[in-house]
Amino acid sequence: MTSILRFAVIGNPVNHSLSPLIHEHFARQFFLNLQYEKLRGQEAFLESQIQTFFQEGGKGMNVTIPFKQQAFELVEVPSPRSLRSKTVNTLWIEEGRLYGDNTDGIGLIHDLQHYLIPQQKSVLLIGAGGAARAILPSLLDVNAKVTVVNRTFEKVLALKEDFPEIHYMEFGRIEGQFDIIINATAASLMQENVFLPEIVMQTSALCYDLSYLAQGLTPFTLYAATLGCSVTDGLGMLVEQAAEAFFIWNKLEPNKEEIKQILRKNQLHFKKS
Ligand code: NDP
Repeated sequence: MTSILRFAVIGNPVNHSLSPLIHEHFARQFFLNLQYEKLRGQEAFLESQIQTFFQEGGKGMNVTIPFKQQAFELVEVPSPRSLRSKTVNTLWIEEGRLYGDNTDGIGLIHDLQHYLIPQQKSVLLIGAGGAARAILPSLLDVNAKVTVVNRTFEKVLALKEDFPEIHYMEFGRIEGQFDIIINATAASLMQENVFLPEIVMQTSALCYDLSYLAQGLTPFTLYAATLGCSVTDGLGMLVEQAAEAFFIWNKLEPNKEEIKQILRKNQLHFKKS
């Protein structure tokens, strides 16, 4: 009998997380005896919750909303890309030290590659929260020309300090033509939408919503699809970032397509012909 490998995702809320499903699916491909639990994090106790998990033999932990920045502060050995974004979504222990990486950005790039070549594309990034911060290093690594807009303008300026390469605009004055529009706001989670000028949406090659729903279209992808845009949501990225974390922990490369199909069951897709 092989020993159980313990993993977890910590967040709040965390009940909706699809990470256990994805990692269990990956583990079955390699006959790993994996247990992946959901931990409801508490801001005041996050450090002790993480410590306890690893002291009790946990092998790896994912971090989700709203703890990616707080968890970064606890990491002893951050990866270069997590250092740039000041966020982590993947934790593990090596020689008694807490390591951290953020696989969201590379997950996005791998998913984008299913639709277009992301290298050197012009990108309009809506949002300046943790997710925007997490994906920026990977977008800049593929030489994307990134323009950021956000409802609260001060956050864009804070982002500009950490990523001097970015361009920015005011939220109410979005103009120009972009290859890719990425909605990295949490609006879709609240069933709200961010409305961009139709001409800006319609001249882009792809509208990508980082948010996803178990079924159907998010408000942003619905809006974009109605305008005739090519759209997708963040389910593919979710699987891709999980595969990167799975590789960090287990040194195994899972097949990702089957679980994407399972998660996309019942999802509608609108694509340009
Ligand atoms: P944060 O809370 O850190 O940031 C939220 C961002 O959304 C801010 O820029 C905020 O603007 C903006 N926002 C929220 N509501 C609205 C609205 N109604 N109109 C305009 N802007 C709004 O969240 P995260 O950055 O961590 O997460 C953002 C989204 O990305 C979530 O939906 C999350 O699920 C998704 N995500 C998906 C991943 C995947 O693998 N697919 C991975 C990581 C995140 P303001 O500054 O003005 O408040």
